Amino acid sequence: MTLAELLPTFRHSLPKRLDGSIWPDGAAALPSGDVTIGGVSLTELADQFGTPGYVLDVRTIRDRCRAYRALDAEIAFAGKAFLCRRMAALLAEEGMSLDVCSTGELATALAADFPAERILLHGNAKPDRELRTAANAGVGRVVIDSLAEIDQLVGAQDVLIRVTPGIDGHTHRAVATGVEDQKFGLSLAGGQAAAAVARVLQRPELRLVGLHCHLGSQIAEVLGYEEAVRRLVAFTAEIAVRHGVTLPQLNLGGGHAVAYRSGDAEFDLPGFAARIPRVLHYECRKHGLVVPQLTLEPGRAIVARAGVTLYRVVTVKHGSTRTFVAVDGGFSDNPRPSLYGSRYTTRLIGRVSDARERTMSVVGRHCEAGDVLIPDALLPSDIRAGDLLAVPCTGAYHHSMASTYNLVCRPPVVAIENGAPDLWIRRETEADLLRRDVA
Ligand SMILES: *Cc1c(COP(=O)(O)O)cnc(C)c1O
Repeated sequence: MTLAELLPTFRHSLPKRLDGSIWPDGAAALPSGDVTIGGVSLTELADQFGTPGYVLDVRTIRDRCRAYRALDAEIAFAGKAFLCRRMAALLAEEGMSLDVCSTGELATALAADFPAERILLHGNAKPDRELRTAANAGVGRVVIDSLAEIDQLVGAQDVLIRVTPGIDGHTHRAVATGVEDQKFGLSLAGGQAAAAVARVLQRPELRLVGLHCHLGSQIAEVLGYEEAVRRLVAFTAEIAVRHGVTLPQLNLGGGHAVAYRSGDAEFDLPGFAARIPRVLHYECRKHGLVVPQLTLEPGRAIVARAGVTLYRVVTVKHGSTRTFVAVDGGFSDNPRPSLYGSRYTTRLIGRVSDARERTMSVVGRHCEAGDVLIPDALLPSDIRAGDLLAVPCTGAYHHSMASTYNLVCRPPVVAIENGAPDLWIRRETEADLLRRDVA
């Protein structure tokens, strides 16, 4: 029996670990009601940097990179999940590769001296200017997404062809990208992928290094990836027979699910690590192929759980059937509930409350009735203006999807590393907004 079990009062004075499936590694709730991440107080961060604000735990990001790097595969972080110069530098240090899908993401990576040869350029509609910028920067690989794009490419370039394998990853329609009849990729079944291969091979400056597919996002099961390996290896074998070329790489994309709420299904990374290389080796042997190098492109699975968003309660409105807790952010810092119906939880921080918990709606400040962050938050019934709320698992697709709707300035990103806060991205100001308003 431990001292904490013998003395209840002593136990109540100890920090309590928060659910590690949705909070950053080592996040703890203190008896005062505060929450610490890497030893740093969230209420102090709110005081110092203001609200709303994004907090990012660097330890968690590094640990996630290392969990993936332990696999026998190249790991290319999907920059669209979250990118800034510090993030790009961290990824370089961790031996990661990087997916970009705009000149903005490319410029950010290059400004951090991220090695261009480890960058992959994605996109279903890459303007000529973007392809030229990438070529001039020496971007390692371009992932071709249409037949027309093959003619747009100029100069020597390693390329992959993005294939739609016709696999349903069982996810939200808006993020299901592996199925037929959506805007990404070239259909395997329809023959467009084969046509793209032939057209690339007619261009001696282009080197076809492999096939790519991305099944979608928030996929928890390994099964879809197994099927993707079978179909892509079979197609690789077809290419070898028809054209006499071997493809040294196989890119299985990202889409690995994270838990946003306690108990949500997460991607089975150990299961993936155990199954996929075996399936790949088996299929390659069956077709008499040399085993290609695997590339994976996780975004969310690297950075989501590292992030926490802090909001200040502005007003509490008791409606006839429902209580609305309105905070100082909303749709502009997190459009995901409106776009995908994404669900989150929140926690009162900075004070303890003995009041009974009730279900209420946490709503944003924007001029949209749909600006509801959490329709069913469980919060103490004495919640009031000035209280602080923390929303976990907001490190991916939050800052990167933020807008200035209502000309609300975007929140800062404060990283925590080695027990201290480090401002990675400052809060946007009205002067920033007016700087673009040039007429
Ligand atoms: C979005 C995307 C990813 C990353 O998706 P996650 O769900 O964040 O893992 C990887 N590859 C491609 C091509 C993508 O479009």
